[in-house]
Amino acid sequence: MSTDRNHTVKTELVADWETLQRIFIRPENEKVRATLVKYMEQILFGLHDFLMQHVGITEEVSLKKLADQFRESRISRHPSKRLADVISGLIEDVAPHAVNVASPYFVGHMTSAIPFFMVHLQTIVAALNQNVVKLETSKVVSVLEKQVLAKIHRVIFDKPDEFYDEHIQHPESALGNFVEDGTLANLTALWVARNSFFRPKPGFAGVEKEGMAAAFQAYEVERCVVMVSQLGHYSLEKAGGVLGIGNRNVLSIDVDSHSRMDMTHLKSAIRDIRKDPRKTKILAIVGIAGTTETGTVDPLPELAEICAEDDIHFHVDAAWGGPTLLSENHRSLLSGINLADSVTIDGHKQFYMPMTCGMVYFKDPCLMDTVAYYANYINRPGSVDLGIRSLVGSRAATSLILRSALNIMGTGGYALLIDHGIEMAQVLAEEIKRRELFQLVTPPELNILTYRIFPEGMRREWADGDAQSRKAVTQQVNQINLTVQRLQREAGKSFVSRTTLKRRGCEDIVVLRAVLMNPMTTMDILGEILDEQEKIFHDQIAPDDS
Ligand SMILES: *Cc1c(COP(=O)(O)O)cnc(C)c1O
Repeated sequence: MSTDRNHTVKTELVADWETLQRIFIRPENEKVRATLVKYMEQILFGLHDFLMQHVGITEEVSLKKLADQFRESRISRHPSKRLADVISGLIEDVAPHAVNVASPYFVGHMTSAIPFFMVHLQTIVAALNQNVVKLETSKVVSVLEKQVLAKIHRVIFDKPDEFYDEHIQHPESALGNFVEDGTLANLTALWVARNSFFRPKPGFAGVEKEGMAAAFQAYEVERCVVMVSQLGHYSLEKAGGVLGIGNRNVLSIDVDSHSRMDMTHLKSAIRDIRKDPRKTKILAIVGIAGTTETGTVDPLPELAEICAEDDIHFHVDAAWGGPTLLSENHRSLLSGINLADSVTIDGHKQFYMPMTCGMVYFKDPCLMDTVAYYANYINRPGSVDLGIRSLVGSRAATSLILRSALNIMGTGGYALLIDHGIEMAQVLAEEIKRRELFQLVTPPELNILTYRIFPEGMRREWADGDAQSRKAVTQQVNQINLTVQRLQREAGKSFVSRTTLKRRGCEDIVVLRAVLMNPMTTMDILGEILDEQEKIFHDQIAPDDS
């Protein structure tokens, strides 16, 4: 590490007023401007060139060794580095040991390459430093944000023009809300669902004011539940905990052979609840539009119908799949999403925005009134202050990035990305089927698929075996996949993630999971990744077989 590389030629750094003024640097003369441009160049091109040279996923160094370099917990009284050195230190010392999520060989997670212009847009957000909690610190950004919310709302719900004319800039309407991430978007949706059900009535001031115990009493309920498929994101359980629903009351519904919520199981779970002597209210049913593990989409129209019959809040978690709506070729995969009461979409996933941007949308622009908070110094009733209806307080002008990205890419640009990902997933699935060593476990519906190594001999053993020996084979196969995934990750050239899928009546299976979102990922690269897995298997796991 080259931490103190230049310290001999520099005068000592001190924390004094003069230095401070220099740090709050403004581009007021040519010399300062030139310096600032130089730094920006260093960031833009230095980092880019660096990442190009290090095409692997990460450098080979143990986490233990890295952690040892970060053991000092005192902050020095005086500055220890100049900006130029900080920047080159981050590029040369930190970046190589971070993860090159932009690599086309990194196909394991929902975090990937972003278009280069996002770096510029992010810089503008930092430079303007608007706080969208209130109008007084954001002004035009607040109305701009309402416009972006309406644009995406329209993509999801496709209401008539008059609807958007009325609500797009109405101070009391909330078509949605920008939050930190998908977790907070899901939490917001369930918060709204909870508060709309346990709303104020004579003798009861509403659950937000009086708490769950009083709400249960007022509504003669003993328990409330949320239902989601077993592939539901764990953020929903967190929401159950935070909202006082209890996360064991976030009920997990089985999936069918296509990894979609099993409607028969859902209906029988609903029947069981009706029979439950404890009076139980189903607060919400969550449909997933692109599950995190398999990318599959729940039967949204059927879920909507069940919810409508019983006046249950219908939430769609489209954190991953939402932007598929921009693709004319594939938007029908999400049909029924317009019937949702609320929808989660993540900007930092398939809108290719930098970390982080969560969004939640509501079909009814008044629903968020149930979570409105006012404060005397900001957020006064009737104002456009976006902090009134938001779980988040201070927050960045992320909507500027999304709006600009939509301008730069158009729906057509995003559609190309979405289509490419789905197409790549399909060709990868074909290639997996073609190769004997592999088994395709969940075929891609969107751009995620899972598969596993399942050697021929073990397949036969499994097919011929009784329950006992099938269990043993599955455990062995699981171990193989665990090991191959780990060895490939440690080798540092490519990355595919792994997860464990539950199957009804069968042993859990460990699968490899590929997420195809990087437009630079080609079939050749995917072929190389599979080759490497085969090689790891033959060289390091079953050398005798080959
Ligand atoms: C990623 C994801 C989330 C959580 O989003 P974060 O932004 O990581 O908090 C929720 N649901 C689904 C389906 C997701 O894919």
